[in-house]
Amino acid sequence: MARIAIVTGGTRGIGEAISLALKEAGATVVANYAGNDERAREFSDRTGIKAYRWDVGDYDACQEGVAKVQEEVGPVDILVNNAGITRDGTILKMTHDMWDEVIRVNLGGCFNMAKAVFPGMRERKWGRIVNIGSINGQGGQYGQVNYAAAKSGIHGFTKALAQEGAKAGVTVNALAPGYIDTDMVAAVPADVLEKIVAKVPVGRLGSAQEIARGVAFLCAEEAGFVTGSTLSMNGGQHMY
Ligand code: NDP
Repeated sequence: MARIAIVTGGTRGIGEAISLALKEAGATVVANYAGNDERAREFSDRTGIKAYRWDVGDYDACQEGVAKVQEEVGPVDILVNNAGITRDGTILKMTHDMWDEVIRVNLGGCFNMAKAVFPGMRERKWGRIVNIGSINGQGGQYGQVNYAAAKSGIHGFTKALAQEGAKAGVTVNALAPGYIDTDMVAAVPADVLEKIVAKVPVGRLGSAQEIARGVAFLCAEEAGFVTGSTLSMNGGQHMY
């Protein structure tokens, strides 16, 4: 796969595994991140993958970041919108800032990044966009109205953009992970996590590598007939 890929939030967690899986598939990968410079430097030294810092929730920063990547690396063929954050709390405790920040980064980030790469993909008649949704965008989750709304929005965004890209060879898909063993899940209290794992039919958390395999499939040359779909990878926790 001689393609150029950007993975947002690609320096750790699920994003790191996606960056590595796309590199293994033959793509030239660029990883974006938010602010953890030390981690990004360690990641780049270890993997040889260039890391670029910008906030995906900032529209102008995305346009400038992608322009810089295109200048230094080349035209972007593959975009994986993986960057995501949580600011959990029941609606009684959730502030407007907590709501805004999660919508801005998780959902706004997908729009901001797609705006930057979609015109070029369309012109070159080939593109792959994969948006990382969530089981909690499909089924909702107590204490996460902001996150569930943003992730649910990603699923609608995917289906709409897929229709706009189809004729131009640009596929747009979502991948909805269940509970995956990363820093994000490490922040969930142990007793809550135990109850969550008890509800997973396969009886364990997923791994970032398992999610990355799914993304690599959706980005492959031979996945051109898959668009507007959501690949659920959740150990059987949510089926429909
Ligand atoms: P992590 O918290 O482990 O990593 C998040 C990554 O996103 C980091 O690289 C971080 O950069 C980057 N990031 C955060 N905010 C921004 C921003 N504003 N701009 C650019 N980059 C940003 O997350 P996970 O690997 O656990 O999650 C990855 C994706 O998968 C998210 O979209 C998440 O919602 C989704 N997901 C995760 C599940 C799980 O169980 N872990 C389940 C379902 C979905 P930095 O290192 O600089 O902070």
